Amino acid sequence: MTQGSIVRQDDGATARSGEVIRERGQREVFCGLTGIVWLHRKIQDAFFLVVGSRTCAHLIQSAAGVMIFAEPRFATAIIGERDLAGLADLNDELDREVNKLLARRPDIKLLFLVGSCPSEVIKLDLSRAAERLSTIHMPDVRVLNFSGSGIETTFTQGEDACLASLVPEMPALADDARELLVVGALADIVEDQFRTLFDEIGIDNVRFLPPQKAGDLAAVGPGTRYMLAQPFLGDTARALDERGAEYVPAPFPIGVHGTTGWFKAAAREFGIDESKVDTVTETRRARARLALERYRSELAGKRIFFFPDSQLEVPLARFVAAELDMELIEVGTPYLHRQHLEAELEALPPATQLSEGQDVEKQLDRARAAGPDIVVCGLGLANPLEAEGITTKWSIELLFTPIHGYEQAADCAELFARPLRRKQRLVI
Ligand code: SF4
Repeated sequence: MTQGSIVRQDDGATARSGEVIRERGQREVFCGLTGIVWLHRKIQDAFFLVVGSRTCAHLIQSAAGVMIFAEPRFATAIIGERDLAGLADLNDELDREVNKLLARRPDIKLLFLVGSCPSEVIKLDLSRAAERLSTIHMPDVRVLNFSGSGIETTFTQGEDACLASLVPEMPALADDARELLVVGALADIVEDQFRTLFDEIGIDNVRFLPPQKAGDLAAVGPGTRYMLAQPFLGDTARALDERGAEYVPAPFPIGVHGTTGWFKAAAREFGIDESKVDTVTETRRARARLALERYRSELAGKRIFFFPDSQLEVPLARFVAAELDMELIEVGTPYLHRQHLEAELEALPPATQLSEGQDVEKQLDRARAAGPDIVVCGLGLANPLEAEGITTKWSIELLFTPIHGYEQAADCAELFARPLRRKQRLVI
């Protein structure tokens, strides 16, 4: 078991429903704290204070790798064992640490208290702590909380919980305003490219969640139309629905097809003819297709097996099948959100074997029996599979690498090609 991952066991049930294998058994996943690794880079004046154990601290430190910032934007408050009487002290300690941190770091404008799964932390009411600390530190610093706990979550749900915690903080959108909100952390370079494209298409009232600065939180209301940039944001979507915003169904902007479909959905919603998207994106599409050409010749016919991990599996499967001619053996995802994945599911090759949830041993057996050329899976499974001679790709890398949009389509393909090339070199 990899540090920071948990293996769960319940009734081991496997059910086939239509083409989908549904499993509820032992699962191998990373926890939501992992999301801090990309979120702290995205919201530049935010700080993530994990309230957790030494394991949580190790996970964050090793997942984040070498710190490149003069001042880190995350830390762990390590909580030892306490009885109930000790919880009052714990709140005092937390307040003291937060006060010290904020006094030393006036650059922090948004502080997240991030819950974790050790029992001592679960006993602590972090939402009340966040409220209490917000009262003290507002208006300079807003204090929010969310859970990065590994219980019943996948590692991308940390971002979902973080963004969902921001939604109640969003101001109300003026009654007569109409805005497009892009939801999901994108690399800054991708965000810039998307802004330019929206602008060229003729949609200029576009906002992004999360914002790059805490003070730039978009307004939200019935005039908001929101598009998901990531497929793992169910709670955030629900919170936006509750604020009156409306979801714009679309594929995810991964690969040429997905990106074009995503921008066309935005254009339709704003009354702009789809042909405008074709015109604006023509050169970019041609460039991306050309860049993908060499990967297609390398990857065509290669058989790929997705284990459920990041929730990006379905859009990625659609991309590798449609644009790289790879053959899908099984596409596993932790949760199959049919509404958000509708366009993706329609674009998968007919009879694609989907699976939702996991019974890890059974799934490993299926993977071994199928003899895939490459397996996409979490870190916990990658090493054992590599030891068996099966080539793997860590699904977490697909979160750390910019893969959205036309300019990044080839980079996304490279992530699948590289491990196969390395394997080939080792065999030769
Ligand atoms: S939140 Fe839970 S699963 Fe994640 S590192 Fe901490 S103890 Fe481990």
